[in-house]
Amino acid sequence: MSQYLSERWKELTPYVPGEQPQNQTFIKLNTNELPYPPSPAVRRSITEGEIDNLRLYPEPDGNIFRQSLADYYGISREQVYVGNGSDEVLAFAFMAFLDRVQYADITYGFYPVYSGLFKCEAKEIPLRKDFSLNLDDYDAVTPIILANPNAPTGIALSPDVIEKKLLENTERIIIVDEAYVAFGAESVLPLIKKHDNLLVIGTTSKSWGLAGLRAGMAFGSPALIQDLNLIKYSFNSYNLNRLTNVLAAAAVDDKEYEEDVCQKIISTRTRISKELTELGFLQTDSKANFLFVKHEKIRGKIFLQKLREKGILVRHFDRPKIDEYLRVSIGRDREMDQFLLAVKEILLEEQNA
Ligand SMILES: *Cc1c(COP(=O)(O)O)cnc(C)c1O
Repeated sequence: MSQYLSERWKELTPYVPGEQPQNQTFIKLNTNELPYPPSPAVRRSITEGEIDNLRLYPEPDGNIFRQSLADYYGISREQVYVGNGSDEVLAFAFMAFLDRVQYADITYGFYPVYSGLFKCEAKEIPLRKDFSLNLDDYDAVTPIILANPNAPTGIALSPDVIEKKLLENTERIIIVDEAYVAFGAESVLPLIKKHDNLLVIGTTSKSWGLAGLRAGMAFGSPALIQDLNLIKYSFNSYNLNRLTNVLAAAAVDDKEYEEDVCQKIISTRTRISKELTELGFLQTDSKANFLFVKHEKIRGKIFLQKLREKGILVRHFDRPKIDEYLRVSIGRDREMDQFLLAVKEILLEEQNA
């Protein structure tokens, strides 16, 4: 920290992203990226014309991408906002809507970070013992943000439970972060037509395989979308670059490809989950592209290290309640086979130790 850093930021605790090693010898199961490339339509849409057009500023509303999303979900463009990754969308949503907020004690790590950055008064609501989130534990007046499925547990709530909470108090906004929804949970997105106090946030980083592109989105009433634009146009009107606008749209237009890769992830997840159970692992009922697992014979931190020594990166959170768990992204089948092999070796080594 330099002596010049503003007093305002001296207490700030930033988010710590998962490791992105530059040599590709690791099997990377630590940041929930898709192991498959994005739709071939994305590659096809990088034309020379698009490159030449980079001399021009982007069209500031991101209307190509917005229109693709509107078509995909059967809503109007006025109900869609797009931005530079859903982390930025989340940041703008915090700025626009949240002076106070409630969220789970175990959830996406950016919520506490943004609460700190934007001086939002946060109330952490403990998950139940089995890591389930119960909205009855949340008060009826404070805005709520939740990841559904939750991270890093992968547990999903059904839309009717969330709808009940929306109806409880229509003056209070509920923000649902659906980064992982395409891997087997049910989306609350159709509810934006009925409920003006619902904002749904999505990303192309997971199910569309575009984490490197940085394209995120929000869905809600046209008035909520206007509020997000108020923040955006007060901060960076060109947050969505020209290529992202075109490439993200191409990915979204290829619905079949997305459904295909999600199906592949789900079937790999089912298989690996079963095998891990047979090896004595405890795990949550994950509807995301990762598993959240622990084994009573080996500590989370040590497991992380041993996997790393065997060339496999997974994610460990060194914090109470979950420090015995590992979050393991679902990779390709052969990557997961190598992961299983390493797990078996480690369990054997522990037995003989
Ligand atoms: C990965 C993730 C995001 C961030 O996605 P980007 O669009 O890549 O910024 C947001 N929320 C949750 C819960 C995530 O896991």
